[in-house]
Amino acid sequence: MIWITQWLCPSRHCAIALAWDDQEETAQNVEYQGEQVFRQGTLNRWCGICGGSLHMEHGRTAFKTMEEALPHIKAIEKANLRARSIIGGKF
Ligand SMILES: [Zn+2]
Repeated sequence: MIWITQWLCPSRHCAIALAWDDQEETAQNVEYQGEQVFRQGTLNRWCGICGGSLHMEHGRTAFKTMEEALPHIKAIEKANLRARSIIGGKF
C-alpha cells in the first residue's frame, strides 16, 4: 500500500508530505527523513501560512502501487505549487 506522511499545522496546512510504499519503506524511516529536513534548517517547524506548530500524521491512501499513485501525487503537487506562488512562497 501507498502511504502519505504529512507535517501539518492545526489548520491542516501541509508543510511537507512524503508518499511511500510500505513494501519498501517503514513509517519510522519516513519520520526520520522528514525530521532531517527540519534539522537541516530547510524548513521551519511552524506553518508558513498561519504560524501554527507542525505535527506529523501517517495516512494510508487508496493506491496499491506508487505507479498508480504518482499521477495523483503530481497533480496535487502542481496545485500546491500554484497556491504557494499566490501567497508569495519561493520554489
Ligand atoms: Zn497553518
